[in-house]
Amino acid sequence: QAKGQGGGTHRFFLPNMNDRALERLELEQSLRLAIERQEFRLHYQPRIDLESGRITGVEALVRWQHPDLGTIHPDEFIPVAEETGLIDGLGAWVLGEACRQAVEWREQGIVLDSVAVNFSARQFRRQRPAEVVRRALEKAGLEPGRLEIEITESAVMQDAGVALESLAELRALGVQVAIDDFGTGYSSLAYLKRFPITKLKIDKTFIRTLLIDPKDAAITEAIVAMAHSLGLRACAEGVETRKQLEFLRAPGCDEVQGYVFSPPLPVEQVTPYLSGERALIPDTTGG
Ligand code: C2E
Ligand code: MG
Ligand code: MG
Ligand code: MG
Repeated sequence: QAKGQGGGTHRFFLPNMNDRALERLELEQSLRLAIERQEFRLHYQPRIDLESGRITGVEALVRWQHPDLGTIHPDEFIPVAEETGLIDGLGAWVLGEACRQAVEWREQGIVLDSVAVNFSARQFRRQRPAEVVRRALEKAGLEPGRLEIEITESAVMQDAGVALESLAELRALGVQVAIDDFGTGYSSLAYLKRFPITKLKIDKTFIRTLLIDPKDAAITEAIVAMAHSLGLRACAEGVETRKQLEFLRAPGCDEVQGYVFSPPLPVEQVTPYLSGERALIPDTTGG
């Protein structure tokens, strides 16, 4: 504690910074324990082909089932996992588990176009992503084309030259690659042209205000058009209402994901939708 260390001594932190540093340290320690204790689970959110209404696949989203605090969402721990390097182990677990689940579904007769897994910037830069992915696919026995890796626009643009190589290696393996949260970072269109990717996921901040702000509508339409001109699929994330869904038809957005169809769900809840045992019907309560 800095208190009581008067004149001339160093104060490394302001009191509130000290609190934050401590909080971070505590979070880091509990994260380490959580990894050991296997407290992480994957939830899966269906992705729907807008034209046919068919479920094309799911996105795996990690949750921390804390024994005392309940479900903790990734935004609260992925940043610290990134900074501390714990993401390497956690990310490998997520990848392995998603591939294993994809194979389990296939064995139940549920064939999805792809299961998507999020990669953070550090996973993408530090780990020879293609090698990690190749091993996970091999271990699970999953065909590479059935896996989709999602990387945010800001993560790929951080070091676009290196990204270009890693993306090429991933594509050479046969896995699909989507740029996540597209439109919120800065993109070099020159790089975007050269990136061997397969999909753009339009960030949910544009979708949220699609029907309120004509500029967001224009941006969304422009992203869909650009994706198509580049030979990529366009997916809108965060679609919450039927009206947003209808809007996305006109520019020909290929896929949608969002609460209007389903939130991310645990395996046992999402499986009946994937098998067709239950129909996934757009929710009309949100307008
Ligand atoms: P993301 O990949 O962009 O995932 C979309 C987020 O939007 C998810 O939040 C999802 O639950 C949420 N979402 C889905 N539909 C709707 C909707 O209709 N409305 C709104 N408002 N939100 C919706 P979640 O699960 O909390 O994940 C947050 C972020 O954490 C993800 O953003 C992704 O960047 C990261 N993340 C999640 N799982 C992993 C993982 O396994 N590894 C890594 N590295 N990052 C992950
Ligand atoms: Mg994602
Ligand atoms: Mg996203
Ligand atoms: Mg995001």
